[in-house]
Amino acid sequence: MSEIRGVDGMSRPLGAKDIRGLAGTLSGPVLEPGDPGYDDSRRIWNGMIDRRPALIARCVDAADVVTAVNFARATGVVVSVRGGDHSAAGNAVCEGGMMIDLSLMKGLRVDPEARTARAEPGVRWAEFDAATQREGLATTGGTNSDTGVAGLTLGGGLGWLAGRYGLACDNLLEAEVVTADGQLLRASESENPDLFWALRGGSGNFGIVTSFTFQLHPVGPMVVAGLVAHPMERAVEVLRFYRQFVETTPDEINTIAGFLTTPDGVKVVAVAACHCGGIDEGEQALRHLREFGPPVLDEIGPVPYTAFQQGLDANFPRGRRYYWKSTMVRELSDDAISQLIELFDSVPSAMTAILLQQLGNAANRVPQQPRSPTATPAGTACSSPAGRTPPRTPPRSSGRARRGVRYDRSRLAGCTSTVLLTATPKKSVARSAATMRDWRSSRRSTTRRTCSA
Ligand SMILES: Cc1cc2nc3c(=O)[nH]c(=O)nc-3n(C[C@H](O)[C@H](O)[C@H](O)COP(=O)(O)OP(=O)(O)OC[C@H]3O[C@@H](n4cnc5c(N)ncnc54)[C@H](O)[C@@H]3O)c2cc1C
Repeated sequence: MSEIRGVDGMSRPLGAKDIRGLAGTLSGPVLEPGDPGYDDSRRIWNGMIDRRPALIARCVDAADVVTAVNFARATGVVVSVRGGDHSAAGNAVCEGGMMIDLSLMKGLRVDPEARTARAEPGVRWAEFDAATQREGLATTGGTNSDTGVAGLTLGGGLGWLAGRYGLACDNLLEAEVVTADGQLLRASESENPDLFWALRGGSGNFGIVTSFTFQLHPVGPMVVAGLVAHPMERAVEVLRFYRQFVETTPDEINTIAGFLTTPDGVKVVAVAACHCGGIDEGEQALRHLREFGPPVLDEIGPVPYTAFQQGLDANFPRGRRYYWKSTMVRELSDDAISQLIELFDSVPSAMTAILLQQLGNAANRVPQQPRSPTATPAGTACSSPAGRTPPRTPPRSSGRARRGVRYDRSRLAGCTSTVLLTATPKKSVARSAATMRDWRSSRRSTTRRTCSA
């Protein structure tokens, strides 16, 4: 007899009969610790998260999700839901409870006539983009193609198309949802509109979504996109220019500015941009960004949309030990700029970066059918991803970083929380350099391969 954690926080016995009962009604596998596949299923993108559910229900369809929810409700156990498993906080997996794993639900159907796509919750953006781009269509997805369609859309969803087409959740037309009482409901503007409103930004708190129907738009296959980089000595000028640039960008442009360390260990300030309209128009619209400085690195040019969507992937490999914090800033004030430069100057690791994700244009307009207030509001998202490779060491710098966070908050106007820094052993600097080199060369070869195809 094993044990499982209840919603009251207490452990309760989990009998073989209960598990057999669930396994007998679920079409997908039910896994316990020690079963083949158990560890693969509980491991998620962030290697820092090492939780062990007492039970994993690997659902293959909506009926399985209903069965799993009914089992959880009847037994009163703690539940977590796994979609694309990219929650940095590890919310997809619970300790000692039951994980409802949706990663096997990979159904994806594109309707080019209606310009819609229906995706099940195990689909990742790379899979979604590949299918929709075959029809010359796309919708706003994340800037990392390995991220899950499910969690990103339910949380709002920022991406390279957000300036033109709004957040991912603004493009959601309909969702099928299993609610806590085990009902399978449809939510749209006309059916269960309150639930539909809550799903668009309310994250995973209103039921388990078993399918998402999105509006698609004509995009690509080629877009003008890439990155420019400048030396840190020019960071103030570059960010002041960036502030002005994003205020006047057309809807087609979306950007991320950031502080990074190059493979040679040199700290730079970079701006990545994507123009999702015509090529000539894109070249013209990004001309100022390429001319300013001039930059020490300029990789902006025509590139397949799917390749650009995957361009940052190699920088965020699975299994590394990540610590992220993010916040909103309403404006990139001079004080915020100097604070960010100071912060980056003191990062102890070449793997730590500070990124500023633009939330402008369509992403910033209130859609006809308003989204839940927890979806991303106006401003600039400021995040600090930091990756560490095994062997595992406790995040020794987190206390120091948290002190830094409090200090930041007093100076970064409009922040609701803020960035966190992580220390990395020297060896990781070399690994990070290699990662960035790989990223560049893989990006070039992916681009070349796709262009010549
Ligand atoms: C490398 C990286 C890059 C990122 N880039 C971006 C970006 O560009 N733009 C952006 O907006 N975000 C970005 N994110 C954040 C990301 O969108 C969120 O972490 C999102 O929640 C991940 O969704 P997921 O399905 O992959 O993750 P999961 O960890 O599986 O799920 C995240 C949350 O959603 C819940 N959930 C998942 N599926 C369902 C479902 N079907 N029904 C109900 N609840 C569900 C989970 O329980 C969990 O609480 C990025 C994250 C990473 C790690």
